[in-house]
Amino acid sequence: AKEGGHSRFAFCSDELHQSAFNNLYIRGELKSALASEQMRLVYQPKRCIAAESVVGCEALVRWQHPLEGDISPVQFIPIAERSGMIVEIDYWVLHAAIKQLACWRNNGLQVVPVAINVSLPTFAHDGFVEDLQSLLQRYDVPGEMIELEITERVALRQVRSASAVMHNIIALGIKISMDDFGTGYSSLSYLNQLPISTLKIDRAFVSDIEQDPLKQGITGAIVAMAKAMKLKTVAEGVETEAEFNYLAQLGCDQLQGYYYAKPLSAQAFVEWLAEDTL
Ligand code: C2E
Ligand code: CA
Ligand code: CA
Ligand code: CA
Repeated sequence: AKEGGHSRFAFCSDELHQSAFNNLYIRGELKSALASEQMRLVYQPKRCIAAESVVGCEALVRWQHPLEGDISPVQFIPIAERSGMIVEIDYWVLHAAIKQLACWRNNGLQVVPVAINVSLPTFAHDGFVEDLQSLLQRYDVPGEMIELEITERVALRQVRSASAVMHNIIALGIKISMDDFGTGYSSLSYLNQLPISTLKIDRAFVSDIEQDPLKQGITGAIVAMAKAMKLKTVAEGVETEAEFNYLAQLGCDQLQGYYYAKPLSAQAFVEWLAEDTL
């Protein structure tokens, strides 16, 4: 803790991280955040290991609060999920990403597909597929330029209705990835009932994998299973060369992480793309 820890500021920043006060405060502030343009997107490249080139990116939301500074999605997304605000946030992100894609395409830039995180309530929201479709039409962006990253608990809740929604989504040309694979409520039995194309291996299994037999075993099993099911694998949160080498040797298809690139602003991402494809 800071010196002079009884000042309100030090107390707030150090100890109220998960307190009820902080949750309520964030909840209230979220309401105005979208309207007053405090949110923006950053884009993190994904690299195909075999082709040695960028094959896509993930859009990640950033909240710049006028008083608190940057508030991490790790902090506010769970609060938004509990309060129902997440649907509004996810719709904002979808709109912003598709608008950005349209802007890049209209400027003649060669861009890669953008993956967007979608939370359970949004996915289950009435009319979600129709809304997606009209966004794509409005901005004249092909569904093939979009990917949705869904966490495991989304699919599990109700496999049958999830499966129906997913089929309608992929009919638009949109691909679906299972995010944070291995951490949630995964059941192998439903995996091949769902039209997903990619498994994202959670960073929990990736960090220091070259030193950890348990992580090696789990990740090896995920990659082998994905191959058998003709699914692609993306390792997320790859930070070191040793991790990269181990995952490449394991047969992982793609990597995402600071080792390759950090999440970048739209402008920086475009510049980064231009250099990467030289
Ligand atoms: P996620 O979907 O698993 O996203 C990956 C997170 O790992 C991102 O954190 C990213 O910045 C971070 N990351 C990427 N490479 C590395 C690395 O090499 N090392 C480390 N230590 N971290 C790395 P971020 O942006 O803070 O997002 C955290 C989570 O918040 C996301 O996890 C996702 O669940 C959620 N989230 C972020 N943006 C959105 C959004 O637009 N909508 C929704 N619904 N959720 C979002
Ligand atoms: Ca994700
Ligand atoms: Ca993830
Ligand atoms: Ca993760």
